[in-house]
Amino acid sequence: MQQLRPSTIREILKVTAQPEVISFAGGLPAPELFPVEAVSRAAQAVLADGGSNALQYSESEGYGPLREWIATEMARRGVRASAQDVLVTTGSQQVLDLAGKAFLDPGDVVLTENPTYLAAIQAFQAMEARFVPVPTDAIGLVPEEIPALIAQHRPKFLYTIPNFQNPTGVTLPADRREKLARIAAEHGLTILEDDPYGQLRYRGSDVPPVKHWDTAGRVLYASTFSKIIAPGLRTGWVVAPHEVFLKLLMLKQASDLHTSSFDQRVAHVYLTSGDPMAHVAKIRAAYGERFGVMDAALREEMPKGFSWTHPEGGMFLWITGPKELDALALLEKAVQRKVAFVPGRDFFPGDAGRNYLRLNFSNSTPERIREGVHRLAALCRER
Ligand code: PMP
Repeated sequence: MQQLRPSTIREILKVTAQPEVISFAGGLPAPELFPVEAVSRAAQAVLADGGSNALQYSESEGYGPLREWIATEMARRGVRASAQDVLVTTGSQQVLDLAGKAFLDPGDVVLTENPTYLAAIQAFQAMEARFVPVPTDAIGLVPEEIPALIAQHRPKFLYTIPNFQNPTGVTLPADRREKLARIAAEHGLTILEDDPYGQLRYRGSDVPPVKHWDTAGRVLYASTFSKIIAPGLRTGWVVAPHEVFLKLLMLKQASDLHTSSFDQRVAHVYLTSGDPMAHVAKIRAAYGERFGVMDAALREEMPKGFSWTHPEGGMFLWITGPKELDALALLEKAVQRKVAFVPGRDFFPGDAGRNYLRLNFSNSTPERIREGVHRLAALCRER
């Protein structure tokens, strides 16, 4: 516990709950796009049809029909898996927690992108992991660097977010994914592939998961319904090689027995009635529009010395400011002007960058995005 620190940023961001603050800070989906009516119908159907089962304890592996649905969905994403390979989890966040517990002893090394997802750092830090960043360029991890890191650090696994990465929005190209899978097979490296955003592509074409090339059974693939239905359902999954699956299952039993029986059934009825993919298309279109609005506003208003990523999907973009920029100090000023973002520093398990900002574009309307960028850019110009 002595290694864990409360986030100073969280404290500052408490003020962003006020409605007059335009927040690009949280990682929240657009609530007006939650399929409230359809989920409500699904919930009623679940309770009407054998409701007591939905309110009873259930199997730790997950609700059978939902595991079947996920196995079919995995095939659509380019991964061959059977329902027995699918462990339903309480959000994909639980996969990070369980994988951390399964693989890590104090001092063990995890290879990561640098920067990477904040709550993954927290999950692995709780297991007293050490983080070794893999060198990255503008399109993500550089696979050729990994064998030397394996030889030097003997990592327990590599954690990666290949699609619309949190926080940078960058997507790893197919040839690098294939190389990653090959390196994993050749060097006995386990890969934890975290894919919450892959379905949110609004430009370009889909790239298969790293797991698509995993002939050696070295890749754990995690995903979630949080971004394609709603995060409040707290329902995600992991597809894992059988021996790893069994360890994760034991850990899950100790952790929460099982993911909510009710939520899993609601998700399943929702997914198998109506047209859930048409709804995902709506989300994609809205986020694409919002990214476009944010990018255009940044181009119009930001001063020289700031550049940013152009993600083809997901919910975030990543701004690099001038070397001398202190994004945390900028946030304090920004909050006074009623606009918020997340300073990049906390996303670095390794060397901390002070001149980065993560901006979320999914959770604000186009009008508020324009106004928020206007406030933020004015502040950047003054400073
Ligand atoms: N991984 C990444 C990269 C995320 O950004 C998030 C949350 N937004 C999660 C995992 C966890 O999502 P959930 O638990 O809702 O599935």
